Amino acid sequence: MKYITVLGSTGSIGQSTLDVLARHPEQFGVFALSAATQSEKLAEQCLAFRPRYAVMPDAEHADVLRDLLKDAGSLTEVLVGTEALCQVAADDAVDLVMAAIVGAAGLLPAWAAACAGKTILLANKETLVMAGDVFMRCVAEHGARVLPVDSEHNAIFQVLHQSDTGCLNKSGMQSVILTASGGSFLETDLAKFPSITPVMAVKHPNWSMGRKISVDSSTMMNKGLEVIEACHLFGLNADQIEVVVHPQSVIHSMVRYVDGSVLAQLGTPDMRTPIAYCLGLPERIDAGVAPLDFFRLNALTFRQPDMQRFPCLQLAFDALRHGQDAPCVLNAANEIAVAAFLRGNILFTDIARVVEDSLDVCKLDASATIDELLDKDAAARQCAQAAVQRLQAA
Ligand code: NAD
Ligand code: MG
Repeated sequence: MKYITVLGSTGSIGQSTLDVLARHPEQFGVFALSAATQSEKLAEQCLAFRPRYAVMPDAEHADVLRDLLKDAGSLTEVLVGTEALCQVAADDAVDLVMAAIVGAAGLLPAWAAACAGKTILLANKETLVMAGDVFMRCVAEHGARVLPVDSEHNAIFQVLHQSDTGCLNKSGMQSVILTASGGSFLETDLAKFPSITPVMAVKHPNWSMGRKISVDSSTMMNKGLEVIEACHLFGLNADQIEVVVHPQSVIHSMVRYVDGSVLAQLGTPDMRTPIAYCLGLPERIDAGVAPLDFFRLNALTFRQPDMQRFPCLQLAFDALRHGQDAPCVLNAANEIAVAAFLRGNILFTDIARVVEDSLDVCKLDASATIDELLDKDAAARQCAQAAVQRLQAA
């Protein structure tokens, strides 16, 4: 029996994780669950999965959860705050940590899991964008393990992973090819981009996801974050990563070899596949995913990403090539910009402007510790807020 902490259990990835876990009760026990605001949903999950702990960031939501659980006779103990998140990620009784909190809020609990030498199922790509070098060093120093949940990285991992040694075989590898759906606005007239609304931007053609990553997909910042994520996970540089727009999301990513071979992983677009792969390793376990039906597939198509249409992707490549804290600033500014767009404060096309402005204004250094990176994240948020205010005033 393996015990798992699911951070962000009420979100899209969190719920998919619990769906897979529920299919294998004899293999997995739930140690802790966590959520930001959805006390009712978290209470339901606690009743179904009976974790030892449930964590919420603030006392108000935790009190609601505590009352709900008490009324239902649950034995789950409710804890509060970031420190508690770190505690349930690092507890001796935990084998696996699903890191599925969205945004920079996911960094410290993932860090705690890394310092405690856990196997981390990493959905929170922002951790690697903010702090990839420092984080991967911590993973290596403490004998922790990172299993990529992001579908593209999981596809590459599936191609490279050697089940006998547990190592990645990069022999003869030339590049990785990240596929991108291109999001909802691949065909939209560029002149209409300024009038894209939050409702339009959170609808994704192939995947059902949280609001922030859905907007990131529609700007293709998501692919930019994933390019940076891939560098850290697989020890690559920017020139070893290709991005190919593949609107059907059937090929989840590929690896190109020096002999001309390209190996791919395919499947129905459903996050339960990569989640189950990480949970079951080294075995394959049932994920409840509909089999890929080749006779019902439309043609698989491919095209080059258009950097004019998707300036966020270019900004991410630029930040990666610049190095230092540029990816950390990119990530923080993007979080502020997306939140402002979702509140209706700035236009869709302003998201890239806020990020670009912040990268120009915010001082870039080579932060070497997690605390320095958190300071940089805070400073970048201030730059981005100022950019949002300038755009609102204009
Ligand atoms: P989501 O918005 O659906 O869920 C986020 C979860 O985090 C929720 O449980 C929420 O309560 C919790 N949360 C939010 N803010 C928090 C805070 N400040 N403190 C503590 N908890 C907080 O998001 P999602 O789509 O499930 O994505 C989660 C992560 O996985 C993101 O980093 C995303 O980029 C990544 N990811 C998601 C998908 C997907 O298909 N949804 C695919 C690949 C990677
Ligand atoms: Mg992805």
